Amino acid sequence: MKLANYIGGRRVDPVEDQWLDSYNPSTGEVSHQVPSSTAVDVDNAVAAAGSAFPDWAATPAGERAAVLNRIADLLEQKLELFAEAESSDQGKPVSLARGVDIPRACTNFRFFAGAVIHQEDAVHMTEGSALNYTHRKPVGVAGLISPWNLPLYLLTWKIAPALAVGNTAVCKPSELTSLTAYMLTEVFDEAGLPPGVCNMVFGAGPQAGAALVAHPDVPLISFTGGTATATSIIRDSAPYFKKLGLELGGKNANIIFADADLDNCIPTTVRSSFANQGEICLCGSRIFVQRPVYEEFLERFTQAAGELVVGDPKDPDTNLGALVSAAHRDKVESYISLAGREGGTVILGGNRPGVDPDLRGGYYLEPTVITGLTPSCRVMTEEIFGPVVTVTPFDTAQEAVAYANMTRYGLSGTVWTTDLNRGHQVAQAMDAGVIWVNTWLLRDLRTPFGGMKASGVGREGGKHSLDFYTETQNICIKQEPLF
Ligand code: NDP
Repeated sequence: MKLANYIGGRRVDPVEDQWLDSYNPSTGEVSHQVPSSTAVDVDNAVAAAGSAFPDWAATPAGERAAVLNRIADLLEQKLELFAEAESSDQGKPVSLARGVDIPRACTNFRFFAGAVIHQEDAVHMTEGSALNYTHRKPVGVAGLISPWNLPLYLLTWKIAPALAVGNTAVCKPSELTSLTAYMLTEVFDEAGLPPGVCNMVFGAGPQAGAALVAHPDVPLISFTGGTATATSIIRDSAPYFKKLGLELGGKNANIIFADADLDNCIPTTVRSSFANQGEICLCGSRIFVQRPVYEEFLERFTQAAGELVVGDPKDPDTNLGALVSAAHRDKVESYISLAGREGGTVILGGNRPGVDPDLRGGYYLEPTVITGLTPSCRVMTEEIFGPVVTVTPFDTAQEAVAYANMTRYGLSGTVWTTDLNRGHQVAQAMDAGVIWVNTWLLRDLRTPFGGMKASGVGREGGKHSLDFYTETQNICIKQEPLF
């Protein structure tokens, strides 16, 4: 099967007729081909989006919201189909795609459909002399570039707010996971999204993605992906002064105090370590445990992690599926080897698990727990993005916070304590954009989302997304005294 680009409401092959093989990570076999689009395809998509922009921007917000709600309804009706596709394309357990990825993609459309019609704007009276009001307008053609780990969820997190406020868009999903984005274009047709409002160009990042970033008629880029890629996006977009939203990598810390409710903390920490094979930007890959409960935590945590089932993503009992690609598994394994050279001990996992003969070409890896490393070493400061966590003891809150902040990343973190005062203060001292206390991944889409330091620039979510995808003007009207 070959996917096609979606430009101006039509499915079209890439102009240069070049294609990329896409692999099913659970078997290692080629499952379909995706267009290897070039700057010419991107140019065509930007032109289609540009032509559609005036009418879509002038469409009343209520009508735009109605289309987004229809997209959500259709996605919900096709949930099973989308979940199976997401799982076979990305390697994640189908149960996760069914329970989290696809429902959250529906929620993205519903949330921003609602948000745009409830938006409020500010008026400032300059006493006696002027009235200032905020006027918003869409930016134009939005360039939306998304990664492979949560393919539909993260793409729709961009499409929904961009379209809700009246922009049109050109999307470039990861070449590794294009299938559900392609299926989404069929939903767009069914939902009555006008042609050209949301275009999809598939292909490699350095080619199709870079062409989108450097396109002069795309004034905004929303990018989720790696920190290294982001530096080239900043560089390539600099001459055009684009609006940039950058959601990047993480090396998130879990700080577990001796008074934590371990019955609650351990299952959640197992999930935050290994959900989606550890391929969630918000996964906690460094676990710091206060010394009085270190041994107990380690024993119970490794036992629970050791019971996780790794294997066929289609099996409802599977907890960890396959990593996204052979190259990514190699990268994760290289960090497990490095841990040994840096003085660490692998106390759980570290190997490729035994799987059924028909899955032997898949990219599986056991949940892996490493101890004995120093917090400043490479394994504990660089993003691994796989099912690998480190566990390290600490004595004081100051020490835990210092360890947590000992990395260039600052995306998220968790604090586990029954002392509310400590929970607040430790969370506030951590250099990360999102901190959970006694929980993980509990999301309210109204809250600001994004990272500090090398984990990103800008905030999305709720009004932050509506602000990002619009240009804001202040209109000041002079008032002459009448009385
Ligand atoms: P990449 O940075 O490799 O790729 C992200 C997207 O950018 C892909 O569509 C990719 O295309 C494209 N791309 C690659 N090079 C360029 C370029 N030069 N110009 C424009 N686009 C380009 O990230 P991954 O896909 O490997 O995703 C994993 C990363 O994403 C991790 O670091 C993870 O932490 C981060 N992430 C951050 C999140 C957050 O909210 N902060 C959420 C989820 C993930 P292609 O794949 O086709 O090469």
